[in-house]
Amino acid sequence: MTELLTESDVVIVGGGPAGLAAAIAARRRGLSVTVADAATMPIDKACGEGLMPEGIEALNQLGVAPGAEESFAFGGIRFIDGDLIAQAHFDGAMGVGMRRTVLHRLLAQRARDLGVAIHWRTPVRWISADGVRLGDRVLRARWIIGADGQHSRVRRWAGLNPVWSSNPRVGIRMHFRRAPWTDFVEVHWHRNCQAYVTPVAADQVCVALIGNRKVPPRMTELWSSFPALADRLEGAAPIDSVRGATSVSTRLRSVVRAPVVLIGDASGSVDAITGEGLSMALRQALVLGDALADDALGRYQAAHRQITRMPRLMARLILMMDGRPTLRRTALRALAARPQLFSRLLAAHVGALAPSAVALEVAGLAGWTLLATALARFTAF
Ligand SMILES: Cc1cc2nc3c(=O)[nH]c(=O)nc-3n(C[C@H](O)[C@H](O)[C@H](O)COP(=O)(O)OP(=O)(O)OC[C@H]3O[C@@H](n4cnc5c(N)ncnc54)[C@H](O)[C@@H]3O)c2cc1C
Repeated sequence: MTELLTESDVVIVGGGPAGLAAAIAARRRGLSVTVADAATMPIDKACGEGLMPEGIEALNQLGVAPGAEESFAFGGIRFIDGDLIAQAHFDGAMGVGMRRTVLHRLLAQRARDLGVAIHWRTPVRWISADGVRLGDRVLRARWIIGADGQHSRVRRWAGLNPVWSSNPRVGIRMHFRRAPWTDFVEVHWHRNCQAYVTPVAADQVCVALIGNRKVPPRMTELWSSFPALADRLEGAAPIDSVRGATSVSTRLRSVVRAPVVLIGDASGSVDAITGEGLSMALRQALVLGDALADDALGRYQAAHRQITRMPRLMARLILMMDGRPTLRRTALRALAARPQLFSRLLAAHVGALAPSAVALEVAGLAGWTLLATALARFTAF
Protein backbone atom coordinates (compact mmCIF):
# COMPACT_ATOMS: atom_id res chain seq x y z
CA MET A 1 0.00 0.00 0.00
CA THR A 2 1.27 3.47 -0.85
CA GLU A 3 1.69 5.83 2.05
CA LEU A 4 1.33 9.55 1.39
CA LEU A 5 4.40 11.12 2.96
CA THR A 6 3.65 14.78 2.52
CA GLU A 7 2.94 17.45 -0.07
CA SER A 8 5.30 20.05 -1.44
CA ASP A 9 5.02 22.62 -4.23
CA VAL A 10 8.36 21.45 -5.56
CA VAL A 11 10.21 18.15 -5.12
CA ILE A 12 13.81 18.11 -6.27
CA VAL A 13 15.55 14.86 -7.16
CA GLY A 14 19.26 15.41 -6.47
CA GLY A 15 20.82 17.64 -3.84
CA GLY A 16 24.04 18.50 -5.68
CA PRO A 17 24.86 22.13 -6.54
CA ALA A 18 22.05 22.42 -9.12
CA GLY A 19 19.38 20.85 -6.89
CA LEU A 20 20.27 22.90 -3.82
CA ALA A 21 20.53 26.12 -5.82
CA ALA A 22 17.09 25.45 -7.34
CA ALA A 23 15.72 24.71 -3.86
CA ILE A 24 17.03 28.02 -2.52
CA ALA A 25 15.70 29.98 -5.50
CA ALA A 26 12.22 28.41 -5.29
CA ARG A 27 12.00 28.74 -1.51
CA ARG A 28 12.96 32.42 -1.73
CA ARG A 29 9.88 32.90 -3.90
CA GLY A 30 7.68 31.37 -1.19
CA LEU A 31 7.27 27.84 -2.58
CA SER A 32 7.48 24.82 -0.29
CA VAL A 33 10.45 22.67 -1.36
CA THR A 34 11.67 19.14 -0.60
CA VAL A 35 15.01 17.75 -1.80
CA ALA A 36 15.95 14.04 -1.90
CA ASP A 37 19.49 12.86 -2.58
CA ALA A 38 20.88 9.33 -2.61
CA ALA A 39 24.16 10.48 -1.01
CA THR A 40 24.88 12.27 2.22
CA MET A 41 26.55 15.56 2.85
CA PRO A 42 28.93 17.09 2.25
CA ILE A 43 28.96 15.59 -1.24
CA ASP A 44 32.33 15.55 -2.98
CA LYS A 45 32.82 15.09 -6.70
CA ALA A 46 35.69 15.08 -9.17
CA CYS A 47 35.74 18.69 -10.34
CA GLY A 48 38.14 21.48 -11.28
CA GLU A 49 36.36 23.53 -8.59
CA GLY A 50 36.47 26.88 -10.38
CA LEU A 51 33.42 29.15 -10.45
CA MET A 52 33.45 31.72 -13.24
CA PRO A 53 32.55 35.36 -12.40
CA GLU A 54 28.95 35.01 -13.57
CA GLY A 55 28.60 31.87 -11.42
CA ILE A 56 29.86 33.70 -8.35
CA GLU A 57 27.42 36.51 -9.03
CA ALA A 58 24.56 33.98 -9.16
CA LEU A 59 25.82 32.29 -5.97
CA ASN A 60 25.82 35.64 -4.18
CA GLN A 61 22.30 36.37 -5.43
CA LEU A 62 21.22 33.09 -3.87
CA GLY A 63 22.57 34.43 -0.57
CA VAL A 64 25.71 32.30 -0.43
CA ALA A 65 29.13 33.92 0.00
CA PRO A 66 32.19 31.70 0.61
CA GLY A 67 34.60 33.03 3.25
CA ALA A 68 38.12 34.07 2.26
CA GLU A 69 39.60 31.29 4.42
CA GLU A 70 37.94 28.51 2.41
CA SER A 71 38.11 29.86 -1.14
CA PHE A 72 40.48 31.74 -3.44
CA ALA A 73 39.63 34.45 -5.96
CA PHE A 74 41.13 34.14 -9.46
CA GLY A 75 41.26 36.91 -12.03
CA GLY A 76 41.60 35.14 -15.39
CA ILE A 77 42.72 32.16 -17.46
CA ARG A 78 46.23 31.19 -18.58
CA PHE A 79 46.82 28.61 -21.36
CA ILE A 80 50.23 26.92 -21.39
CA ASP A 81 51.55 24.63 -24.14
CA GLY A 82 55.29 23.98 -23.76
CA ASP A 83 56.98 27.35 -24.20
CA LEU A 84 53.76 29.08 -25.34
CA ILE A 85 51.79 31.07 -22.77
CA ALA A 86 48.60 33.01 -23.49
CA GLN A 87 46.70 34.65 -20.69
CA ALA A 88 43.90 37.16 -20.09
CA HIS A 89 42.16 38.69 -17.12
CA PHE A 90 38.39 38.85 -16.75
CA ASP A 91 37.27 42.39 -17.29
CA GLY A 92 37.34 43.56 -13.65
CA ALA A 93 35.35 40.58 -12.35
CA MET A 94 36.77 37.69 -10.35
CA GLY A 95 36.08 33.97 -10.38
CA VAL A 96 36.39 31.89 -7.21
CA GLY A 97 37.93 28.48 -6.58
CA MET A 98 36.58 26.43 -3.69
CA ARG A 99 36.39 22.78 -2.68
CA ARG A 100 33.20 21.01 -3.74
CA THR A 101 32.63 20.02 -0.14
CA VAL A 102 32.74 23.69 0.88
CA LEU A 103 30.31 24.73 -1.86
CA HIS A 104 27.97 21.88 -0.93
CA ARG A 105 28.02 22.68 2.78
CA LEU A 106 27.29 26.38 2.14
CA LEU A 107 24.41 25.64 -0.25
CA ALA A 108 22.88 23.03 2.07
CA GLN A 109 23.14 25.40 5.05
CA ARG A 110 21.43 28.21 3.13
CA ALA A 111 18.67 25.87 1.93
CA ARG A 112 18.05 24.60 5.47
CA ASP A 113 18.00 28.15 6.88
CA LEU A 114 15.28 29.03 4.37
CA GLY A 115 13.18 26.03 5.42
CA VAL A 116 13.86 23.56 2.60
CA ALA A 117 13.22 19.95 3.73
CA ILE A 118 16.26 17.87 2.76
CA HIS A 119 16.38 14.05 2.82
CA TRP A 120 19.89 12.61 2.46
CA ARG A 121 20.53 8.90 1.77
CA THR A 122 17.20 8.89 -0.03
CA PRO A 123 17.41 7.57 -3.58
CA VAL A 124 14.40 8.32 -5.76
CA ARG A 125 13.36 5.16 -7.55
CA TRP A 126 10.53 6.39 -9.70
CA ILE A 127 8.35 9.37 -10.48
CA SER A 128 4.69 9.21 -11.40
CA ALA A 129 1.73 11.50 -11.99
CA ASP A 130 1.20 11.42 -8.19
CA GLY A 131 4.61 12.83 -7.46
CA VAL A 132 7.93 11.32 -6.49
CA ARG A 133 8.25 7.82 -5.09
CA LEU A 134 10.77 7.25 -2.32
CA GLY A 135 10.66 3.51 -1.65
CA ASP A 136 7.00 2.77 -0.94
CA ARG A 137 6.20 6.37 -0.06
CA VAL A 138 4.89 9.07 -2.38
CA LEU A 139 5.73 12.72 -2.12
CA ARG A 140 3.03 14.71 -3.89
CA ALA A 141 4.32 17.68 -5.85
CA ARG A 142 3.16 20.25 -8.31
CA TRP A 143 6.60 20.40 -9.91
CA ILE A 144 9.31 17.75 -10.01
CA ILE A 145 12.81 19.03 -10.68
CA GLY A 146 15.36 16.60 -12.09
CA ALA A 147 18.73 17.73 -10.68
CA ASP A 148 20.17 14.23 -10.68
CA GLY A 149 23.27 14.90 -12.75
CA GLN A 150 24.74 13.72 -16.01
CA HIS A 151 23.15 10.24 -15.97
CA SER A 152 19.76 11.60 -14.93
CA ARG A 153 17.05 9.00 -14.51
CA VAL A 154 14.40 11.71 -14.12
CA ARG A 155 15.32 12.89 -17.63
CA ARG A 156 14.82 9.36 -18.95
CA TRP A 157 11.56 8.85 -17.07
CA ALA A 158 10.22 12.13 -18.50
CA GLY A 159 11.34 11.21 -22.04
CA LEU A 160 13.58 14.28 -22.36
CA ASN A 161 16.60 12.41 -23.71
CA PRO A 162 19.59 14.26 -25.24
CA VAL A 163 19.47 14.87 -28.97
CA TRP A 164 23.27 15.06 -29.10
CA SER A 165 26.16 13.81 -26.94
CA SER A 166 29.91 14.20 -27.40
CA ASN A 167 32.40 11.38 -26.91
CA PRO A 168 32.82 11.04 -23.16
CA ARG A 169 36.18 12.08 -21.69
CA VAL A 170 37.63 11.16 -18.33
CA GLY A 171 38.53 13.65 -15.60
CA ILE A 172 40.48 13.00 -12.41
CA ARG A 173 41.37 15.45 -9.67
CA MET A 174 43.60 15.70 -6.61
CA HIS A 175 44.39 18.46 -4.09
CA PHE A 176 47.90 19.55 -3.14
CA ARG A 177 48.99 21.50 -0.08
CA ARG A 178 50.80 24.60 -1.32
CA ALA A 179 50.08 28.29 -1.72
CA PRO A 180 48.72 29.19 -5.18
CA TRP A 181 51.51 30.67 -7.33
CA THR A 182 49.15 32.76 -9.44
CA ASP A 183 45.65 34.21 -9.48
CA PHE A 184 45.02 32.63 -12.90
CA VAL A 185 43.36 29.29 -13.47
CA GLU A 186 46.03 27.54 -15.52
CA VAL A 187 45.22 25.15 -18.36
CA HIS A 188 48.29 23.12 -19.38
CA TRP A 189 48.06 21.35 -22.73
CA HIS A 190 49.67 18.07 -23.63
CA ARG A 191 49.24 15.68 -26.56
CA ASN A 192 46.82 13.34 -24.78
CA CYS A 193 45.22 15.46 -22.09
CA GLN A 194 44.91 18.81 -20.34
CA ALA A 195 45.85 19.54 -16.76
CA TYR A 196 44.13 22.43 -15.12
CA VAL A 197 44.94 24.05 -11.84
CA THR A 198 42.55 26.06 -9.71
CA PRO A 199 43.55 27.81 -6.48
CA VAL A 200 40.93 26.73 -3.90
CA ALA A 201 42.33 28.20 -0.65
CA ALA A 202 45.36 30.17 0.53
CA ASP A 203 47.22 26.88 1.04
CA GLN A 204 45.62 24.51 -1.49
CA VAL A 205 45.39 23.97 -5.23
CA CYS A 206 43.14 21.57 -7.11
CA VAL A 207 44.70 19.82 -10.09
CA ALA A 208 42.38 18.16 -12.62
CA LEU A 209 43.50 16.06 -15.59
CA ILE A 210 41.06 15.54 -18.42
CA GLY A 211 41.62 13.27 -21.37
CA ASN A 212 40.44 10.69 -23.80
CA ARG A 213 38.51 7.69 -22.46
CA LYS A 214 40.59 5.32 -24.60
CA VAL A 215 43.80 6.54 -22.93
CA PRO A 216 42.50 7.67 -19.52
CA PRO A 217 44.76 10.17 -17.75
CA ARG A 218 46.68 9.10 -14.64
CA MET A 219 47.97 11.43 -11.93
CA THR A 220 51.52 10.17 -12.49
CA GLU A 221 51.40 11.93 -15.88
CA LEU A 222 51.65 15.21 -14.01
CA TRP A 223 55.35 14.56 -13.49
CA SER A 224 56.10 13.10 -16.93
CA SER A 225 53.90 15.16 -19.28
CA PHE A 226 53.71 18.55 -17.57
CA PRO A 227 57.24 19.53 -16.47
CA ALA A 228 56.33 23.19 -15.72
CA LEU A 229 53.53 22.03 -13.44
CA ALA A 230 55.73 19.35 -11.88
CA ASP A 231 58.21 22.10 -10.92
CA ARG A 232 55.44 24.10 -9.24
CA LEU A 233 54.19 21.08 -7.32
CA GLU A 234 57.57 19.77 -6.24
CA GLY A 235 57.46 19.07 -2.50
CA ALA A 236 53.71 19.84 -2.24
CA ALA A 237 51.97 17.10 -0.26
CA PRO A 238 48.87 15.48 -1.80
CA ILE A 239 45.90 16.17 0.50
CA ASP A 240 43.57 13.42 -0.66
CA SER A 241 43.31 10.48 -3.02
CA VAL A 242 42.43 10.70 -6.70
CA ARG A 243 38.75 11.04 -7.57
CA GLY A 244 37.43 10.60 -11.12
CA ALA A 245 34.34 11.20 -13.25
CA THR A 246 33.35 11.21 -16.89
CA SER A 247 32.93 14.50 -18.68
CA VAL A 248 30.56 14.76 -21.60
CA SER A 249 28.74 17.48 -23.51
CA THR A 250 25.05 16.81 -24.09
CA ARG A 251 22.26 18.86 -25.62
CA LEU A 252 18.51 18.46 -25.10
CA ARG A 253 15.78 19.84 -27.30
CA SER A 254 13.65 20.67 -24.28
CA VAL A 255 14.22 20.80 -20.52
CA VAL A 256 10.55 21.01 -19.53
CA ARG A 257 7.80 18.41 -19.71
CA ALA A 258 5.33 19.34 -17.01
CA PRO A 259 5.36 18.47 -14.22
CA VAL A 260 9.06 17.70 -14.79
CA VAL A 261 11.73 20.38 -15.21
CA LEU A 262 15.46 19.65 -15.58
CA ILE A 263 18.41 21.65 -14.27
CA GLY A 264 22.21 21.36 -14.05
CA ASP A 265 23.98 18.46 -15.78
CA ALA A 266 20.65 16.63 -16.06
CA SER A 267 19.49 19.40 -18.40
CA GLY A 268 22.55 19.20 -20.67
CA SER A 269 26.23 19.49 -19.84
CA VAL A 270 29.40 20.98 -21.32
CA ASP A 271 32.88 19.46 -21.26
CA ALA A 272 34.68 19.99 -17.95
CA ILE A 273 37.50 21.96 -19.60
CA THR A 274 35.18 25.00 -19.95
CA GLY A 275 34.86 25.27 -16.14
CA GLU A 276 31.24 26.31 -16.70
CA GLY A 277 29.05 23.47 -15.37
CA LEU A 278 28.53 24.94 -11.90
CA SER A 279 28.04 28.50 -13.12
CA MET A 280 25.41 27.39 -15.63
CA ALA A 281 23.52 25.47 -12.93
CA LEU A 282 23.52 28.42 -10.51
CA ARG A 283 22.28 30.82 -13.19
CA GLN A 284 19.61 28.37 -14.31
CA ALA A 285 18.43 28.06 -10.70
CA LEU A 286 17.82 31.78 -10.35
CA VAL A 287 15.63 31.84 -13.46
CA LEU A 288 13.87 28.61 -12.50
CA GLY A 289 12.87 29.90 -9.05
CA ASP A 290 11.11 32.88 -10.64
CA ALA A 291 9.58 30.83 -13.46
CA LEU A 292 8.08 28.32 -11.00
CA ALA A 293 6.66 31.06 -8.78
CA ASP A 294 5.17 32.89 -11.79
CA ASP A 295 3.99 29.65 -13.43
CA ALA A 296 5.95 30.61 -16.55
CA LEU A 297 8.13 27.65 -17.44
CA GLY A 298 8.39 28.77 -21.06
CA ARG A 299 10.55 31.58 -19.72
CA TYR A 300 12.87 29.04 -18.09
CA GLN A 301 13.17 27.04 -21.30
CA ALA A 302 14.16 30.19 -23.26
CA ALA A 303 16.61 31.44 -20.61
CA HIS A 304 18.14 27.96 -20.30
CA ARG A 305 18.94 27.97 -24.01
CA GLN A 306 20.56 31.38 -23.65
CA ILE A 307 22.63 30.39 -20.60
CA THR A 308 24.05 27.24 -22.20
CA ARG A 309 24.77 28.72 -25.63
CA MET A 310 28.17 30.32 -25.02
CA PRO A 311 29.61 27.54 -22.83
CA ARG A 312 28.64 25.02 -25.52
CA LEU A 313 30.41 27.10 -28.14
CA MET A 314 33.50 27.41 -25.95
CA ALA A 315 33.50 23.66 -25.30
CA ARG A 316 33.46 23.10 -29.04
CA LEU A 317 36.28 25.56 -29.71
CA ILE A 318 38.49 24.29 -26.92
CA LEU A 319 37.95 20.65 -27.85
CA MET A 320 38.77 21.46 -31.45
CA MET A 321 42.26 22.31 -30.17
CA ASP A 322 42.49 18.96 -28.36
CA GLY A 323 44.27 16.45 -30.59
CA ARG A 324 45.15 19.12 -33.19
CA PRO A 325 48.54 20.38 -31.94
CA THR A 326 49.25 22.55 -34.99
CA LEU A 327 45.91 24.33 -34.80
CA ARG A 328 46.25 24.66 -31.04
CA ARG A 329 49.71 26.17 -31.16
CA THR A 330 48.67 28.54 -33.97
CA ALA A 331 45.69 29.63 -31.88
CA LEU A 332 47.71 30.02 -28.69
CA ARG A 333 50.46 31.95 -30.50
CA ALA A 334 47.83 34.35 -31.87
CA LEU A 335 46.24 34.77 -28.44
CA ALA A 336 49.65 35.34 -26.85
CA ALA A 337 50.40 38.04 -29.44
CA ARG A 338 46.96 39.66 -29.03
CA PRO A 339 46.13 39.68 -25.32
CA GLN A 340 43.26 42.07 -25.96
CA LEU A 341 41.57 39.61 -28.31
CA PHE A 342 42.00 36.89 -25.66
CA SER A 343 40.38 39.25 -23.10
CA ARG A 344 37.47 39.80 -25.47
CA LEU A 345 37.09 36.05 -26.04
CA LEU A 346 37.09 35.60 -22.28
CA ALA A 347 34.47 38.34 -21.91
CA ALA A 348 32.33 36.48 -24.48
CA HIS A 349 32.96 33.24 -22.57
CA VAL A 350 31.58 34.69 -19.32
CA GLY A 351 28.66 36.32 -21.14
CA ALA A 352 29.87 39.94 -20.89
CA LEU A 353 30.20 40.26 -24.68
CA ALA A 354 28.21 38.88 -27.64
CA PRO A 355 30.11 36.11 -29.49
CA SER A 356 29.33 37.80 -32.82
CA ALA A 357 31.43 40.76 -31.62
CA VAL A 358 34.54 38.54 -31.54
CA ALA A 359 33.79 36.24 -34.48
CA LEU A 360 34.99 38.72 -37.11
CA GLU A 361 38.25 39.39 -35.28
CA VAL A 362 38.91 35.67 -35.02
CA ALA A 363 38.06 35.17 -38.70
CA GLY A 364 40.78 37.68 -39.63
CA LEU A 365 43.56 35.57 -38.13
CA ALA A 366 45.62 33.36 -40.42
CA GLY A 367 45.26 29.69 -39.55
CA TRP A 368 42.09 30.19 -37.58
CA THR A 369 39.68 29.18 -40.33
CA LEU A 370 38.42 26.14 -38.43
CA LEU A 371 37.80 28.05 -35.24
CA ALA A 372 36.27 31.02 -37.04
CA THR A 373 33.94 28.75 -39.03
CA ALA A 374 32.77 27.09 -35.83
CA LEU A 375 32.25 30.47 -34.20
CA ALA A 376 30.34 31.86 -37.19
CA ARG A 377 28.19 28.73 -37.50
CA PHE A 378 27.42 28.82 -33.83
CA THR A 379 26.59 32.51 -33.61
CA ALA A 380 24.10 31.98 -36.45
CA PHE A 381 22.60 28.98 -34.61
C1 LIG B 1 36.59 16.35 -14.09
C2 LIG B 1 35.55 17.43 -14.02
C3 LIG B 1 35.95 18.74 -13.77
C4 LIG B 1 34.99 19.76 -13.68
N1 LIG B 1 35.40 21.02 -13.41
C5 LIG B 1 34.49 22.02 -13.28
C6 LIG B 1 34.89 23.33 -12.93
O1 LIG B 1 36.06 23.63 -12.70
N2 LIG B 1 33.93 24.29 -12.82
C7 LIG B 1 32.63 24.02 -13.06
O2 LIG B 1 31.80 24.94 -12.97
N3 LIG B 1 32.22 22.77 -13.40
C8 LIG B 1 33.11 21.77 -13.50
N4 LIG B 1 32.70 20.51 -13.81
C9 LIG B 1 31.26 20.27 -14.04
C10 LIG B 1 30.50 20.17 -12.71
O3 LIG B 1 31.11 19.20 -11.90
C11 LIG B 1 29.04 19.80 -12.96
O4 LIG B 1 28.52 20.66 -13.93
C12 LIG B 1 28.21 19.90 -11.68
O5 LIG B 1 28.61 18.91 -10.76
C13 LIG B 1 26.73 19.73 -11.99
O6 LIG B 1 26.00 19.75 -10.79
P1 LIG B 1 24.63 18.95 -10.69
O7 LIG B 1 24.06 19.29 -9.35
O8 LIG B 1 23.83 19.18 -11.91
O9 LIG B 1 25.02 17.41 -10.73
P2 LIG B 1 25.82 16.53 -9.68
O10 LIG B 1 26.88 17.33 -9.03
O11 LIG B 1 26.21 15.29 -10.40
O12 LIG B 1 24.72 16.18 -8.57
C14 LIG B 1 23.67 15.27 -8.83
C15 LIG B 1 23.13 14.76 -7.51
O13 LIG B 1 21.99 13.93 -7.76
C16 LIG B 1 22.02 12.82 -6.87
N5 LIG B 1 21.22 11.75 -7.49
C17 LIG B 1 21.42 11.15 -8.68
N6 LIG B 1 20.43 10.24 -8.92
C18 LIG B 1 19.59 10.30 -7.85
C19 LIG B 1 18.38 9.61 -7.50
N7 LIG B 1 17.81 8.69 -8.30
N8 LIG B 1 17.79 9.90 -6.31
C20 LIG B 1 18.32 10.83 -5.47
N9 LIG B 1 19.48 11.50 -5.76
C21 LIG B 1 20.08 11.24 -6.93
C22 LIG B 1 23.50 12.49 -6.72
O14 LIG B 1 23.75 11.81 -5.49
C23 LIG B 1 24.13 13.90 -6.75
O15 LIG B 1 24.29 14.43 -5.44
C24 LIG B 1 33.61 19.47 -13.90
C25 LIG B 1 33.22 18.15 -14.18
C26 LIG B 1 34.17 17.15 -14.24
C27 LIG B 1 33.73 15.74 -14.54
